[in-house]
Amino acid sequence: MKKAVFFDRDGVINIDTGYVYKAQEFIFIDKVIESLAYLKSKGYLCILVTNQSGIARGYYTEEDFKKLCDYMQSTLAEHQACFDAVYYCPHHIDGTVLQYKIDCNCRKPKSQMFEKAILEHDIDVTQSIMIGDHASDLQAAAKVNIANLILVGSHLKEQKALLGELSERVTCYKNVSDFVKNFTKWS
Ligand SMILES: [Mg+2]
Ligand SMILES: [Zn+2]
Repeated sequence: MKKAVFFDRDGVINIDTGYVYKAQEFIFIDKVIESLAYLKSKGYLCILVTNQSGIARGYYTEEDFKKLCDYMQSTLAEHQACFDAVYYCPHHIDGTVLQYKIDCNCRKPKSQMFEKAILEHDIDVTQSIMIGDHASDLQAAAKVNIANLILVGSHLKEQKALLGELSERVTCYKNVSDFVKNFTKWS
């Protein structure tokens, strides 16, 4: 079995300016590329798990998302930092594009994307980590028993408050790079 770090995308990998789908709007957060490369060098699979309701809302298409994903991956690959897998949820119950307007089982805080990833990559959840910037990211990861829950970003306090009892199991850092800096102490 393999250990993995699961990542949310917007607000964790790139600056979240809201429904980002163009390469020129995709700004990597400070030192996140080096952080991914470091975790991969330590034997972790890096897996992206992202809600993309902008597809259901008609703000951009699944093709647009995939194009941006290719851009992200090719940039990361130059630094030995690309994701080993990407899972995304294009759905939303209030969507305007009919084919995606469903109450699915993959949109976080639901856990279907994680279940799929764990199965497809033979992941040991007891050795794995989830890094997100919203309560829903960590709630989804907790459902599949991912052992280590990390909250990052600019709204730590309000997101932590949404976690209730689960907040006791969550560690907060400013960003992914800050987590990685503390990683040896922490692990
Ligand atoms: Mg996010
Ligand atoms: Zn979904």
